[in-house]
Amino acid sequence: MRILVTNDDGIHAAGIAALAKELTEIGEVMVAAPDTEKSATSQAITVHQPIRVDRYCGAQPLQGWRIGGTPTDCVKIAVEALMEEPPDIVVSGINHGPNLGTDVLYSGTVSAAIEGALHGIPAIAVSLDAWQEEYDFTVAAQYARKVVERVSREPIPAHTLLNINVPNLAAQEIKGIAVTRLGVRQYENVFEQRQDPRGRHYYWMGGKVAHTENAPDSDIVAVQQGYVSITPIQLDLTDESLRQQLQTWSW
Ligand code: MN
Repeated sequence: MRILVTNDDGIHAAGIAALAKELTEIGEVMVAAPDTEKSATSQAITVHQPIRVDRYCGAQPLQGWRIGGTPTDCVKIAVEALMEEPPDIVVSGINHGPNLGTDVLYSGTVSAAIEGALHGIPAIAVSLDAWQEEYDFTVAAQYARKVVERVSREPIPAHTLLNINVPNLAAQEIKGIAVTRLGVRQYENVFEQRQDPRGRHYYWMGGKVAHTENAPDSDIVAVQQGYVSITPIQLDLTDESLRQQLQTWSW
């Protein structure tokens, strides 16, 4: 199995090293990842400046390409220009921080997987629900491997991907796998106004997650309860019921 590994935290991040190491046990891993952190870049592509690509031979198993672009650029250029054959699967992560609910729309980690799915390649995004607390990617890497092995035996449909979020718990504390739907994430106090040394105002986007009600079968609730969440994601954003309703309008 040929596995393309990418991320949005950059090729030097600990999460991608843990992921590549684990996946080397089950396939041939090639890494194509951004040279610096590109979190929250969504599906951005680089078209107004060159994309620099360097052959990257870090410590095993980080072999591949270090790319001066977004996560989406990395998958696109790897599949379309760098790899001799397309990979059998694209795995993005392990992100330092969760990618839950509506946050997937901003996520570079998930978008890299989406780019794989857009190419018709099975794709998985993996994130660890840890931020400032202590964390270790080992357990998340083991779950990523488990899902990759499963998907290689039982393929998911074309143009879909699996978004995995792993709680920051020891292996024995994890309650199991929950197949979920995307929940809703909202943030409070997002824009902080500050002043630069020349007296001009600027804003810094921050804030904290607001407590929103989420369905019991949502990814957010599952991870809160100690489950590894797997959410199948499709790329067709069409609202089918509204489409049918709009067709009845007199235009
Ligand atoms: Mn990230």
